[in-house]
Amino acid sequence: MTANLAALTGMDAPTGLLIGGEWTGGRGGARLPVIDPATEDVLTEVADGTTEDALDAVAAAYQALPAWSATPPRQRAECLRRAFEIMTERADALARLMVLENGKALRDAKAEALYSAEFFRWYAEEAVRMEGTAAIAPSGANRILVQLQPVGVSVLVTPWNFPAAMATRKIGPALAAGCTVVLKPASETPLTALAVAGILAEAGVPAGVVNVVQTSHAGPTVSAMMADPRVRKLSFTGSTEVGRILLRQASETITNCSMELGGNAPFIVFEDADIEAAVDGAMIAKMRNGGEACTAANRFYLHDAIADEFTAAFCARMAKLSVGAGLDEGTDLGPLVNADTRSKVAELVEQAASAGASVLMGGSAPDRRGYFYLPTVLSGVPSDAGILDAEIFGPVAPMVRFSTEDEVIRLANDTEYGLVSYLYSADLRRALRVAEALEAGMVGVNRGIVSDPAAPFGGVKQSGIGREGGHEGLLEFSELKYIAVDW
Ligand code: NAP
Repeated sequence: MTANLAALTGMDAPTGLLIGGEWTGGRGGARLPVIDPATEDVLTEVADGTTEDALDAVAAAYQALPAWSATPPRQRAECLRRAFEIMTERADALARLMVLENGKALRDAKAEALYSAEFFRWYAEEAVRMEGTAAIAPSGANRILVQLQPVGVSVLVTPWNFPAAMATRKIGPALAAGCTVVLKPASETPLTALAVAGILAEAGVPAGVVNVVQTSHAGPTVSAMMADPRVRKLSFTGSTEVGRILLRQASETITNCSMELGGNAPFIVFEDADIEAAVDGAMIAKMRNGGEACTAANRFYLHDAIADEFTAAFCARMAKLSVGAGLDEGTDLGPLVNADTRSKVAELVEQAASAGASVLMGGSAPDRRGYFYLPTVLSGVPSDAGILDAEIFGPVAPMVRFSTEDEVIRLANDTEYGLVSYLYSADLRRALRVAEALEAGMVGVNRGIVSDPAAPFGGVKQSGIGREGGHEGLLEFSELKYIAVDW
C-alpha cells in the first residue's frame, strides 16, 4: 500500500518521467520505490528511467534549444518569474513533499521551498543581463566584440539533501541563459524534482526545455548522456567521489563542467567571540537540515579560553532538540535519509570514541522505526581522528581545542575539501585576516549560514569547480563568443 500523497501534501505529485513535455512511464516500464525515512515504508513508486529514456530526453532538449535560446530574454525571465510565484504560493505543499521523501524537519523544508523559489526570481532578473563588451583592438585595426551565448543542452545531476534548491539553483541560470536541460535527480528524492518541473511547465516553459529522468541506474544513465555530443554542459552537485568519475567522463567529449562537491567545514570560535552568538550560529551551521548539508559545520575548533563555556552552552541547546518525524509540528530533527547514511554516521562516532573522544551526549540511534540518530556532541577529539577528515552528514558535532591563530588556520586547512569555513571573533581585523587565510570558497564571519541566491556559492580544492548563484551562476551556462569586426 502506498501513501496518498495528495492528501498528505495538498498537491498532486507527478511520478512519471518528463520528456519533451510529456509525462511518460519510460520505455522499460520499470518502477522505482520512494521510501519515507521516518517510517521505512514505501511512499509511492515513480517511473524508473533507462539509458534510452535519458537519450530521448537529450533529443527533446536538443530539439527545443534553438527556439528557447532565440526566445527574447524578457520572455524567458517572465517564465522564471511565474515559476517563482507559483512555487512560493505552494511552498507549504512542496515542503511537505520534501519531508516525506527526505525526512528533514518541516521547518527546514519550508525554508528550502522558499529559498529554492528565490533562484527562479534571481535568475528572472539575471536573464536580461547577458551582457557583453565592445573594445577597440590596441592596434586600432578592428573592434573586439564579446558576447554571451547559451552553452547548449545541459545535464543537471542533483543530490537528495536539498532536493528542491539543488534543482532550481541549476535550472534557473540554465533557462535564463537560454539553455535547455535534462535533470537527473537523486533516486531517493525524485518527487520534489518532478513537482518543480511541473511548476515550470505551468509557468509557461515550453515542452522539451526542462526534461526530468530519474533512475535507479545513475552511472550508466548519466554516462550515456555524457557520451552524447549534443550534450555540452554537465552541472553536478554531489560527492567528490562521483564528481571525479564524471570529470573523467567529461574529458572524453571535452564537456563543460560545473562541480559542487563535498565539504568539511571548520567552525572556529576565538577567545574574543560573543559566545551566545557563536552558539546560535553553530546550531544553524551544524543542525540545519539535520546536519545533512555540504555546508554543515563538520569540525568545531574552540580556543582554550572559551572551549568549556561554548561546549556547555552548545550541549544545552542540542539537548532541547526534539527528534521525530519531520511532518510532526515541533520536530527539530527528523531522520537521516537512509540506513547507509545512518550506519556511516554511527561508525564515525564509534571510531572517534575508540580513538579517545568523549561522547558528551547522544552517540546512538533511538529505539524506533525510521533512520533516526540522536543529536551528538564529542569532545577531546584527537586531531588525527577519522571523523575530522570525513563528511559526517549527520547531527554530530566534534569539538577540538586550539591555542593560537596560526595553529587553527593550519588545522582548518588540513583537508582536501575547501567549500566553506565559519569563524567567530569580535576583532574585525583578525576575522578578515583569518578569512583570507582559510582555503575555502566561502567564509561565514560571525554567521552560521552563507547560502544566498545572489551570492556565488562554490568551493576550492576538491570541493568543486565553478560557482552557483549570483551573476557567476549565469556565466556557468554561457559561452563567450569573440567577434573580430572591421567596420
Ligand atoms: P552522490 O552519491 O554523489 O550522488 C549525487 C547524484 O549523483 C545523485 O543524483 C546520484 O544518483 C548521482 N550519481 C551517483 N553515482 C553516479 C555515477 N556513477 N554517475 C553519475 N551520477 C551518479 O551524493 P549524495 O549522497 O546524493 O549527496 C551528498 C553529497 O553531495 C555530499 O558529498 C555533499 O557534500 C554533496 N553536496 C554538495 C553541495 C555543494 O553545493 N557543494 C550541495 C549539496 C550536496 P543516485 O541518487 O541514484 O545515486
